[in-house]
Amino acid sequence: MLIDTHCHLDFDRFDEDRDAVLQRATAASVERIIVPALDLENCAQVLALADHYAEVYAAVGVHPNSTVMWESTWLDSVRLFAAHPKVVAVGEIGLDYYWDDSPKEVQHEALAAQLELAAELELPVIIHNRDASEDVLRLLAESPLAGRERPGVLHSFSTESAVAEAALKMGFYIGITGPVTFKKADDLRAVVAKLPLDRILVETDAPFLAPQQRRGKRNEPAYVAYVAEQIAALHGLSSEELARITTRNARRLFGSMATGEEGDNE
Ligand SMILES: [Zn+2]
Repeated sequence: MLIDTHCHLDFDRFDEDRDAVLQRATAASVERIIVPALDLENCAQVLALADHYAEVYAAVGVHPNSTVMWESTWLDSVRLFAAHPKVVAVGEIGLDYYWDDSPKEVQHEALAAQLELAAELELPVIIHNRDASEDVLRLLAESPLAGRERPGVLHSFSTESAVAEAALKMGFYIGITGPVTFKKADDLRAVVAKLPLDRILVETDAPFLAPQQRRGKRNEPAYVAYVAEQIAALHGLSSEELARITTRNARRLFGSMATGEEGDNE
């Protein structure tokens, strides 16, 4: 079985056929899906989805692109949302200097505060990093999560191996998405080939980042199998073995996720 540890299944691009998307995920052996929130309003939507679907789990937090109006009281709201039994992480949080929707200092404040909250709640974090590796690594190193047993994941990893190595040293996992399958992604494949197997997670980031086989289309959780297949080839493993390893990794980081109220066939 596979776990898609990062999918925006709540987006309206899934409104027409969400049940069918989840059926295709099940048919592709994707048995758990973690849906991260982007802002406070979205936290409630993501939790509603987790209430509705047994295989859906959630992360709650404020994405860097949603931090422009950040107030410290938002932390209390995230804390309340995090009490939901299907919340497995704080996320997605991080820094985004590409879109630059929010001043850097505000992004830093929101990230640092949410890292501390995660440490307090003993939850791992899902980290978004776009063109901000240096500051992301610094803030992680300064946070109480650094060196903890299950600090979190660098989601949709797409940068150089020095960044992965620094994060691995702090105990972080590395999430790999569809771009690892892209024709011109030899550099990323070289990085992924060197990652320790016990720290790799497979993600879609759907509806974004559809793998090469579906490029240009809407991505969906079933396609995480293409990501797993590519990583398996890089490490000389069967897809089944890679699936077993990454699922074990996801459960070590996020917990067993075995408490679905219905349809739990384990
Ligand atoms: Zn995302």
